[in-house]
Amino acid sequence: MRLSRAFLPTLKETPAEAQIASHRLMLRAGLIRQTTAGIYAWLPLGLRVLRNIGQIVREEQDRAGSQEILMPTIQAAELWKESGRYEDYGKEMLRIRDRHDREMLYGPTNEEVITDIFKGFARSYRDLPRNLYQIQWKFRDEVRPRFGVMRGREFLMKDGYSFDISPEAARKSYHRMFVSYLRTFARMGLKAIPMRADTGPIGGNLSHEFIILAETGESQVFLHRDLLAYDPLAEAPDYDGDLTPHVDFWTSRYAATDEMHDEAAWNAVAAEEQVSARGIEVGHIFYFGTKYSAAMGFQVTGPEGNPVHPEMGSYGIGVSRLVAAAIEANHDENGIKWPDAIAPYKLAILNLKSGDAACDAVCERIYAAFPEDAVYDDRPERAGVKFADADLMGFPWQVVVGPRGAAAGKVELKRRMTGEREELSVEDALAKLRP
Ligand code: ATP
Ligand code: MG
Repeated sequence: MRLSRAFLPTLKETPAEAQIASHRLMLRAGLIRQTTAGIYAWLPLGLRVLRNIGQIVREEQDRAGSQEILMPTIQAAELWKESGRYEDYGKEMLRIRDRHDREMLYGPTNEEVITDIFKGFARSYRDLPRNLYQIQWKFRDEVRPRFGVMRGREFLMKDGYSFDISPEAARKSYHRMFVSYLRTFARMGLKAIPMRADTGPIGGNLSHEFIILAETGESQVFLHRDLLAYDPLAEAPDYDGDLTPHVDFWTSRYAATDEMHDEAAWNAVAAEEQVSARGIEVGHIFYFGTKYSAAMGFQVTGPEGNPVHPEMGSYGIGVSRLVAAAIEANHDENGIKWPDAIAPYKLAILNLKSGDAACDAVCERIYAAFPEDAVYDDRPERAGVKFADADLMGFPWQVVVGPRGAAAGKVELKRRMTGEREELSVEDALAKLRP
C-alpha cells in the first residue's frame, strides 16, 4: 500500500477521551473510529489486525476439531423464553420489536440458537460429539462501555459450542478447547493464563477465564510463577489423545482472579513463587452440562436406547478485545509494537527523499518484493514525520531508505519490537525480510 494513496489517517494529538494506552493508540494510529458510545467502525489498518486475529482463532479451532458456521446477529425472543434467560439477562440485552410487533433481540451470545439448530439434526449418540463455532458480532448494552474496543457494546467474539453424550466425554471436549486456547493466544505473541472462573449467567460448574497480564487490566489476578514460563507451542497437542496431563499442569498451580481468590490456598504458595498482577480477560470457557438441552427439550437416543439430554459447553474469545489487549501488552511511548503474527503489514518502507532517483528506485524494488505486506511511505513529508508515523502504526520492520545509502545500494533495517537497527545491502535486507 502506498501511503500517498492510502486511507491510513493518524492523529498527532492524544484524544482526550482515551484513558488507556491501547485506546489512545488505536485512535491515534487510525485503527478505529467511534460512531456512538461503545460502537466502533474499523478502519483499514484496524480491520487487517482484526482479520489476522480471527484467522489464527479459526486455524486453531479447526485444528482442535471444531467446525465454523455463521449464525445471525438478530434472534427471536422465543428461544430465550424457552431457556428461561429472556428475563434474567436484564438490561445488557438490546431488545427490538419488528413491524409485526414480534420480540427480537441482538444476540449477546448464542447458546439458545445453536441448541435449536443442532437439535434439528442430532438424533442419536452417534451424532455426537460435535463442536461448532462462529466469529460474529455481539451486542451487550454494557453499563459502562469504556477503554475503546476493550469494553465495547458491539464487539466481535468467537463463540463455540460442544455437544457430548456424557459428562466424561464433555470433559474431553472442554480439555480440547482449553489446550487450543493456550495455543491460539501464544500464536498471537501473547501469554494468556487460564484461571478458574465464576460461570455467571451462562451457568454451569466448570469454567476458566484466559487472562493476559497487563497493568491496565480490569481484573486483579494471582498466579504461580511457573505458569509464566510455560510455552504452549513447544509441542503439538494430540487432540485425539488424553489431554488431562496438559490441563493438570495448569490447574494444579494457583491461578485466580479476585472474584475466585482463596487466601488460604494463596498463602500455601511460597512467597517467591507468588505473582500478583492486573489482567485482561480475552477468553472464557464453560461446561454447563444439560442446562440448555434440558430446558429446550433436546434429547438423543443413547447407546442403550434410552433418551439422553446432551452435555454442552461454550467457549468464547474476545476477537475485537484482543486487538486492544495486544497493544496493551506491546507498546512504548512512540506507539504500537505489533507481534509479527497479527501485524497489519509486515513492513514499512520509509523513503526519506521521495523524488530522489536512487531512493525511489530502491524503495520501488523493495515494495515490488512485498506487494501485499508492505506500506510504502512515498509521501512528500519530512523524515521525522515518516519515522513517527511508522513507530506509531507499529509495523514489525522498517526499511529506511536515505539518499546516501541508496546511492551505495544500502538501506537501514529497524526492528520495531526491540529497536535494533542494522545497515544492509538491498539484497541482504530482502533476504532477511523474506519468510
Ligand atoms: P467481562 O467479564 O469482561 O464483561 P464476560 O465474562 O461478560 O466479559 P463472556 O461472556 O465470557 O464475557 O464473553 C467471552 C469473551 O468476549 C470475553 O472473554 C471477552 O474477551 C469478550 N467480551 C465480553 N464482553 C465484551 C465487551 N463488552 N467488549 C469486548 N469484548 C468483550
Ligand atoms: Mg467472561
